[in-house]
Amino acid sequence: MSNIQALKGTKDVLPAESHKWHYIENTMRSLCSVFGARELRTPIIEHTELFQRGVGSTTDIVQKEMYTFEKGDYSITLKPEGTAGMVRAFIENGLFNDPLPQKLYYLNSPTFRYENPQAGRLREHHQFGIEIVGSYAPETDAEVILLALTLFKKLGVHDLMLHINSIGCPECRKEYNAALREYLKGYIGDMCETCRSRFEKNPMRIIDCKEERCKRIVKGAPRTLDYLCEDCRKQFEGVKACLDAAGAEYVVDPDIVRGLDYYTGTVFEIISNRIGAQGAVCAGGRYNGLIEELGGQKIPAVGFGMGMERLLAVMENNNVEFPKPPEVTVYFAAMGEAPRMKAFALTQQLREKGIFAEFDHMERSFKAQFKYANKVGAKYAVALGDEELARGIVRVKCMGDGAETEVAIDGLAAYFAE
Ligand code: ATP
Ligand code: MG
Repeated sequence: MSNIQALKGTKDVLPAESHKWHYIENTMRSLCSVFGARELRTPIIEHTELFQRGVGSTTDIVQKEMYTFEKGDYSITLKPEGTAGMVRAFIENGLFNDPLPQKLYYLNSPTFRYENPQAGRLREHHQFGIEIVGSYAPETDAEVILLALTLFKKLGVHDLMLHINSIGCPECRKEYNAALREYLKGYIGDMCETCRSRFEKNPMRIIDCKEERCKRIVKGAPRTLDYLCEDCRKQFEGVKACLDAAGAEYVVDPDIVRGLDYYTGTVFEIISNRIGAQGAVCAGGRYNGLIEELGGQKIPAVGFGMGMERLLAVMENNNVEFPKPPEVTVYFAAMGEAPRMKAFALTQQLREKGIFAEFDHMERSFKAQFKYANKVGAKYAVALGDEELARGIVRVKCMGDGAETEVAIDGLAAYFAE
């Protein structure tokens, strides 16, 4: 019988890699806490309708990429992005009763999209994201962006570029959509099928299409920035001013419209041009209509989602040095039944004191145990045989300089606790 393998587009995080994840997770957590954001964990499964209404029925995600199944009386979907679930939880748990703005984050959130697996494009990936809910101020957009930029700085990633744009509010969108349809109408026959159906319902989605023929068509299309209303223009200027004040570099990129329907106003991507075609590590924007759309009050918000696998790829590409995982402090090399039992008990004593101690599980020879201690990078090897046990001592060898000391068994835990 053949072995069962992982599903296409899914990945194991191996023990030799998991400390890298811990490092980025810890950095994210401590950064979120200095930005005043608290974690909100939501389930991996939600009602399918949440994403249909939240992400939008003309988006790639909803049209092509969701993992949806029936169970009981429900249609259920595996989270394809983070924001809809966060907003659902915000409304359902009455978080709007707490003082605004609320800064909410999630990390390591499994995210599922039925896409063609390739470098940087998985069917299950993990996202870090933040949502700041309750404020219209451009400072809020800028703060969300600055959280991401600060994270990259802290993690030693220096070659990413922030691209920002504004796609306007429903007011300016009307005029823009009319201009866009006017431009596109001569090309309808040349578009992909999905875009043809978007022409009436949501022509702006066509700007974001990944098909070559559609990309060619939209090259000369009108851009949202030229159609912003006064309020949206001011907001966008405000965001840029805040980024300037904070010394953040960016480019205004009118091509960014983002693949989800809920965005209004500011949208942005933080892009690497060194990890291949899937270069967007972080993407987000403002969504002033989503909370109301999902049954809540009219409360504005802004946020981003960051692909953690892509972040890791960028870090590796930048040759970032990850902090090394802790190595064994004390390795017990014991020989003979009674000494082994004593060493086993001492291992437990040290561990209770928070010391990384190891004991031989493989019944290796004395010599092989020392060799193993060396291999796993133990700082100390503790030798314990019949003779030592009879004298009530162990011999502690410092693996770095080879120096040996006799230490009383009773005092060993205290010796290492220092
Ligand atoms: P793309 O244009 O690459 O398809 P997207 O617009 O679908 O991206 P978002 O929905 O904004 O992406 O997701 C936020 C972030 O999550 C992306 O910037 C990326 O880092 C990551 N991401 C999205 N889809 C995948 C995937 N299939 N595999 C790995 N990471 C992904
Ligand atoms: Mg996508």
